[in-house]
Amino acid sequence: MSDYYDVLGVSKSSDKAEIKKAFRDKAKKYHPDKGGDEAKFKEINEAYETLGDDQKRAQYDQFGSAGGNFGGGGGGAGGFQGGFNASGFGGVDDIFSSFFGGGGGGRSQSRTANTKGSDLEVSIELTFEESINGTEKHFAAAHFVSCKKCDEKGGEGKKSCETCQGTGGVAQKFQTPFGVVQQQTTCPTCKGGGTSFEKTCSSCHGEGRSEKRDKIEVEIPAGIDQGQTLRFKGKGDAGIRGGTAGDLYVHIQIRSSRVFHRQGLDLVSEIEVPIIDAILGTVVEAETFWGKVDLTIPENTREYQMLRAKDKGVRKDGQQGDHLFKVKYVMPKKISSKLRKDLEEARKHV
Ligand SMILES: [Zn+2]
Ligand SMILES: [Zn+2]
Repeated sequence: MSDYYDVLGVSKSSDKAEIKKAFRDKAKKYHPDKGGDEAKFKEINEAYETLGDDQKRAQYDQFGSAGGNFGGGGGGAGGFQGGFNASGFGGVDDIFSSFFGGGGGGRSQSRTANTKGSDLEVSIELTFEESINGTEKHFAAAHFVSCKKCDEKGGEGKKSCETCQGTGGVAQKFQTPFGVVQQQTTCPTCKGGGTSFEKTCSSCHGEGRSEKRDKIEVEIPAGIDQGQTLRFKGKGDAGIRGGTAGDLYVHIQIRSSRVFHRQGLDLVSEIEVPIIDAILGTVVEAETFWGKVDLTIPENTREYQMLRAKDKGVRKDGQQGDHLFKVKYVMPKKISSKLRKDLEEARKHV
């Protein structure tokens, strides 16, 4: 079994976002539909199923095997043994404490985590203009929103959950190489909250939130660049019964402009200059993103020389780049006999 961290090319200390990013990059690269390696693609998915899930990852880190193998009875033991020696843990007690989430403190932590709403993730495509100017975007998405009817409480007359006696967890038994152990899992009735109600809210069925397809609005700041990800705190799924809301991640894709090309905070475009103007120098009107400017073509301008219009680039965080014009020579359409005569005369002086 390959090491999941190696499969995704991340380090053991990578955070969730890094792992997710690595997974996306690899999945894209090896996707069978795009001619990638199918076996490799499967391996990548398997690695992410474990490392992308906090609980499975913690278990993998300790035992070198994810939850699935463990609860699965006999079949799991082999895989389990493999990573087991490598992890070099102290003793049987360690295993038990890890199953129970490290005692009382750990349990209450996981209970808080269980009420947190999930993060949402979307990709947004912007026009080039929108990316420079900034914009407001809205889109419809199915997500959990707070229940207005019960004010996120879930109901009236709070009481202890009967399924779990208010602990928020129920014990599940697992077969391991050391015999049967119990693992605490989230109570299916109260979803870990430990409470139920005399009168459960009919709108959210006690969860304090309900899934709905509705509009999400986000403000895209000016000067955003291709491939950036914006994080909007608390704009993800609402938490359970007033728990912390998840965050919204917006990945930015920008349609390229036919005219302007971005380089950091600078904008670049081509400008056609008649060769005679390039030799003699002149002032021309040139188009920047922010409108026309008078651009000086200095005497003896070379082709592909960059001419700078200061502070006409991208505005971002109080800074502004420049506009760079790349000179392209335009030859005369036709050499008239008059022009030929003049140029022949000029040639004597070059
Ligand atoms: Zn319960
Ligand atoms: Zn409700």
